[in-house]
Amino acid sequence: MNQGYPDARIPVTPVLSSRSLRGARGPHIAAITDAASVRLVTSGRIALALAARAMRLAPGDRILVPAYHSMSMIPPLQAGGVETVFYRLRPDASADLDDIAARLDDRVRALVVVNYFGFPQKLAEIRAFCDRHGIMMVEDCAHSFFGASGGQALGSFGDYAIASSMKFFPIYEGGALVSARHPLDAAALRSGGAGFELKAGLAAVERGMAFGRLPLAGALLRLPLTLKGVLWNLLKRRRGAAAAAALTPSSSDSSYGFDPAWLDKRSSLFSRMVLKLAPRRAMCEARRRNYLALAARMQALPGCRLLFPLLPDDVYPWAVPVVVDDPDALFPALKMAGVPIIRFAESLWPGVDAALCPVSAALSRQVLAFPCHQELTDAELAWMAGTIESTAAPRRAPE
Ligand SMILES: *Cc1c(COP(=O)(O)O)cnc(C)c1O
Repeated sequence: MNQGYPDARIPVTPVLSSRSLRGARGPHIAAITDAASVRLVTSGRIALALAARAMRLAPGDRILVPAYHSMSMIPPLQAGGVETVFYRLRPDASADLDDIAARLDDRVRALVVVNYFGFPQKLAEIRAFCDRHGIMMVEDCAHSFFGASGGQALGSFGDYAIASSMKFFPIYEGGALVSARHPLDAAALRSGGAGFELKAGLAAVERGMAFGRLPLAGALLRLPLTLKGVLWNLLKRRRGAAAAAALTPSSSDSSYGFDPAWLDKRSSLFSRMVLKLAPRRAMCEARRRNYLALAARMQALPGCRLLFPLLPDDVYPWAVPVVVDDPDALFPALKMAGVPIIRFAESLWPGVDAALCPVSAALSRQVLAFPCHQELTDAELAWMAGTIESTAAPRRAPE
């Protein structure tokens, strides 16, 4: 995955630390899991497949998907023989409703919209469009676990909404399917098994330790973690590496894979506890503060501009997306320096190109997003901003 680059020096997603569960919980901030019906599963992609199932999409039905997307979104939507049709975005990353209208036919049953990087689409307008055309709306809140638009919670505009909890909480696995409008199938989710439950908790602790968090827990857990390693190796020998790997979903290993074996599995107890105990207010305020601090410095750099010039109230961003003029030079230089970069939509589904949507093709190449999550320390943020500045605008030595 790393293509010869060193590991990022600071965590690209939230890591468990001694402050993960401390801080202000209220006043309340809207979260997609506040919906009337909620299913906590192991990833956002599993939630997308369950959304397609809940909408009773049949083979040959069509679903409209943005040309700017994560590859991980497509196989779950296609799983039941459903055809994905890609639509264009406008330069501000909003869904192009004229293009969408032109692609409607009597096989199109639903529209997926993504609140990119946490910034809401024109959701009321899209909701009205879907109602007018008799199609269902799926709100992909993988980047917008929290927040509201015009006073209405994100995730409540769509018939169904999905989240990727791993992107917001210091957990190893987690996603959600929710609906504010329809009861969800009561078919019970099952536990992923004891091996999965154990791995989910210990993997989160291990990751925290790898980034210098949890010194005390680390010391206490050295023995259990060693034991886990021993047990894991034993299992691999006894049952084969494939069987051991099947204990945990590949969605947790930054792959795009979709494994239907996880469709009926509940998120781990560890992840569900963290979702319940995490201090929402503190997490959300930290994300906004970090976003604003980083965005102010990125905005001033030559050859860089913010994808979203303003941070509206009620937006709790996933990351800071920067549109850069020369990604082919900047991206490798930043990666070599150990800067964590989220390159959302770096690869697009085969057939999605500049002819289909010039905006998506450009964003997929030019947007470099930097983390602003709640677990970054001030020193880490300062290092990241300083490193990006000195790489993007190196000071010339005096002649
Ligand atoms: C990450 C992502 C998903 C899938 O979420 P996972 O939890 O990784 O399965 C879906 N949609 C978008 C827009 C994403 O960025």
